[in-house]
Amino acid sequence: MLAETITDLPDFAPDRAAAYRRRGLWGERTVGDELRHAAARFADRPALITPTTRLTYRELDRRTDAFAAGLLAVTPLRPGDRLMFSAGNIAETVIAYYGAVKAGVVPVCTLPMHGHREIGLLAEHVGATGHLVQADFAGQDLPSVAAAVGLETVISIGGELDRAIGFEELLAAGSRDPVAVDPDGVVAFQLSGGTTGLPKVAPRRHREYVHNSAAWADALDIDKESVVLHALPIMHNAGIAAALQPAHWRGAAFVLAPGADAATITDTVRRESVTCIPLVPPAVVIRLLDHAAATGEGLRGVRRMCVGGQKLPLEVAVRIEPELGVPCNQMFGMAEGMFLGTPAEAPERVRLHTVGVPVSPADEVRVLEVGGENQVPDGQLGELACRGPYTIPGYYRAAAHNAATFTADGFYRTGDLAVCRPVDGRRYYSIEGRIKDVINRGAEKIHSEEVEEIIVRHPDVHNAALVGMPDPVLGERACAFLIMESGAAPLTVASLGEFLRGQGLAKYKWPERVELVEAFPLTNVGKVAKKELRERVAAR
Ligand code: AMP
Repeated sequence: MLAETITDLPDFAPDRAAAYRRRGLWGERTVGDELRHAAARFADRPALITPTTRLTYRELDRRTDAFAAGLLAVTPLRPGDRLMFSAGNIAETVIAYYGAVKAGVVPVCTLPMHGHREIGLLAEHVGATGHLVQADFAGQDLPSVAAAVGLETVISIGGELDRAIGFEELLAAGSRDPVAVDPDGVVAFQLSGGTTGLPKVAPRRHREYVHNSAAWADALDIDKESVVLHALPIMHNAGIAAALQPAHWRGAAFVLAPGADAATITDTVRRESVTCIPLVPPAVVIRLLDHAAATGEGLRGVRRMCVGGQKLPLEVAVRIEPELGVPCNQMFGMAEGMFLGTPAEAPERVRLHTVGVPVSPADEVRVLEVGGENQVPDGQLGELACRGPYTIPGYYRAAAHNAATFTADGFYRTGDLAVCRPVDGRRYYSIEGRIKDVINRGAEKIHSEEVEEIIVRHPDVHNAALVGMPDPVLGERACAFLIMESGAAPLTVASLGEFLRGQGLAKYKWPERVELVEAFPLTNVGKVAKKELRERVAAR
């Protein structure tokens, strides 16, 4: 397949784009330039630390330049082409991300847990021709995923693969002058965690992405003395925009942990003297609290830790400072752009109860009547909507969806329910629920419709409805209500999981409970009454 150029990109309104430039929020540097700029200032300081690798800024800059040169020398990929990433938290993933970006090749940030179905559909949607694959990823057989998807160019990291170009071969392959990359062009495609239906693709552009990470770095007071830890999958908007880039824009050491289990995080914090954890979901905080109770080890030395990705229960929030030794701060972030965070100096009740304030001076937030465009008064519940210098003006190739998801004046409707809570003249926001049909499993998002659509392909299933059921650690897990075909043997969690594995769906999306029913309750407009199904399973 020949890569098509990236067209159909929704644009920022010209007057707002001009204002962002005038205010100095959008600069001239691309993501690659920003790394080069950091390397010039912080050359010998540590830039990237994993259990097996330590690179200074100079070394990271050189290796990413070499990757960029090699990519263009030995693969058919050209600037503007799209490269799927199926890779976990190893140093090569970071080098390949920056290297691709420096070559003008666009990373498509998928999770290493994604199966051949997700990768295949996304590759088709964005017109990807290349696939970067980690050969030795422990969580899933990624070479098989790559084989099933079958893109033209495969690059392997973490080991050699048949018919793939190896990472070292690529690094050794050539030197050439840097490619001129357009600061208005796309840096990366991020997957939305936030919409109803099939996951949508957020095209992130250089100017706004650079600003997003700079604003977040400032909100967290990251500087060259900081040691920034990220333990969730790096190839996700949170990893790139909230952790990797903010650390590098300010000359900090970026520590990439291989996983987010409590022992790994606690050991890494101690070993590397971590000072900042930009994002940790409540599900991980609960495990850190259990670990601290069992071992007496908190997160000493960490000055800033932001809990986000899903709702932080108050009973967990109040335990963070006394038991982990780190002040409780919260954040709200999304692949579509806007980040909110609780300022370190905000009163404790603000940090415990809200996700804070948006991080760029030009971010605009509204709380809208559900389904409407009018704003609700402060203190009242409505849909969180936002617009600003790093919130996308639209998804990639999704015109109908964009028309429904953005207001007439360009505010993105998040599908999250929020309340504005002014305190001492500052407008803080709390997240109170959601209206979109998404299950938030420990901050990993499951789009019900995507899973339902696959379940009903099972020959024995007549109809399926997926809802979230409460879970004390993960917040929610998926429960499938199934109507079987008459006479068919009932499906179980295990047999349904086997079927979904065969369909190439990521395991975290598989239902963890099955309820067999004769019919679904309906709303008065004839839709499946998911609220009632959620209440039914919660009651059990
Ligand atoms: P993603 O694009 O995967 O980062 O997911 C973004 C979505 O995660 C948001 O639209 C919210 O539904 C959810 N989310 C993120 N942070 C929070 C938070 N602090 N509290 C509640 N939900 C959150």
